[in-house]
Amino acid sequence: MPYFKLYPDIKYIKGEKRATLYLLGHSKTIHLSSKETNVINSLISEELDTTIVKFGDIAHKAIEYLLINGLAAIYEKDSFTEGYLPFMPFQIKGYNEPQLMLEILFIQISDECNVGCDFCKNDNYLNYEGCNSCIRWKNTTDGAKINDEKLIQQIEKMDGIQVKEIIFSGGNPFLHWESLIKIIKKLRVYNKGSICVYCPQNTLDIEKAKILKEYNITVILNIFSTTEQGQELNKKLDDTIKILEAYNIQYNFTLILTSNDSINYDKMISKTKLYSPNRISSTELIPLNNSDYKLISQPTGIKRIDDVSMLNFFYRTKYSTCMNKKIAISADGNILPCPSWKKSFGNIFDKHGIRSIFKNDSYVDAWENPKSKVVICENCENKFACVDCSCLDNELKDDPKLLKVICDYDTKNGYWRKETERNDFDWKL
Ligand code: SF4
Ligand code: SF4
Ligand code: SF4
Repeated sequence: MPYFKLYPDIKYIKGEKRATLYLLGHSKTIHLSSKETNVINSLISEELDTTIVKFGDIAHKAIEYLLINGLAAIYEKDSFTEGYLPFMPFQIKGYNEPQLMLEILFIQISDECNVGCDFCKNDNYLNYEGCNSCIRWKNTTDGAKINDEKLIQQIEKMDGIQVKEIIFSGGNPFLHWESLIKIIKKLRVYNKGSICVYCPQNTLDIEKAKILKEYNITVILNIFSTTEQGQELNKKLDDTIKILEAYNIQYNFTLILTSNDSINYDKMISKTKLYSPNRISSTELIPLNNSDYKLISQPTGIKRIDDVSMLNFFYRTKYSTCMNKKIAISADGNILPCPSWKKSFGNIFDKHGIRSIFKNDSYVDAWENPKSKVVICENCENKFACVDCSCLDNELKDDPKLLKVICDYDTKNGYWRKETERNDFDWKL
């Protein structure tokens, strides 16, 4: 009596109604239809012949696909396949004197900006991937400005902490130019890596550009939606880029999406093609007073399901995909896991400086925060493939109604809004 088994690198995650197959060796994610879910359920829990009798042609096709592509095997007797873990995840608490490596350190010089975007620090909007923009931070006191002398003293104590990228954001860092350069000068003693500064339009001049070049700073520029206010703000973009290119300064773009319209997104993308940015990322503003709004979540789209690699899958079972190893220092000195987070871990000016977050393990709530801990997502089969913004997940805990805005998937009944479920086995590797 033959039995069917999926290989250990094929993860079958069952939701309430449907399931998702994570083909880790192929970095491929397949969200199964309800019918496919029933077939796979039967294959892994019953004898092979029983599944074939129950499901006929569709079972044949599924078995053939899985066997031909080396994703499963047939055994004569019922057998046990050992689980698979590619590595032991690194955990800070397991080490006495950890060498801390941060992915990104955000620094907010001040909460001020002279541009006046109407969505900025506005409680009527939720920020999706707000960390990718200069939007002012919700945790910071209005108008706050960092104590640069005290911050520099703390930076001196950060010797030994490696940081891959430092980003100055959260308002217009150019408004306090002297403080900005004083801090960058000190950071450059310890950090040879990437330092980026948000540069709202109409901020840069030739003298400043020369100094940015001297310290090898990358500038991040906003491209605003094609709304009336956005068009007005975009007007200065050309002038700024001319200066940057004249001094051979690297630049990135952030697309600020304020309109629920993918045509608008396409227009913004075409605008970026006129220039040569190093990187393009985006932040989306979700208006809370519009219950019909749907998160666009570009570039992955409304179905935020990624193809995940082996490493990514196991990483996502334990850590937040977006916040792990990130720290943000606000203009009040508060230490946050990211600029959009509301609750602070501690304060940089406290006795232990940046290390205060490890004194009470407060970093765990943010860094070790996979989607399996999000109430709305914990039973969803897509939780290890879904693109993350933990701040939104956090908002969901307080207001589950927001799920309709953020996610189009009904986990309980197993369908995407406006979905016509597949009726075949059209799987492709
Ligand atoms: S340019 Fe940035 S910081 Fe200034 S108002 Fe607009 S979003 Fe806020
Ligand atoms: S947001 Fe949550 S419920 Fe929606 S698809 Fe992603 S993991 Fe599933
Ligand atoms: S939760 Fe993640 S994606 Fe969202 S703003 Fe923070 S770091 Fe960015």
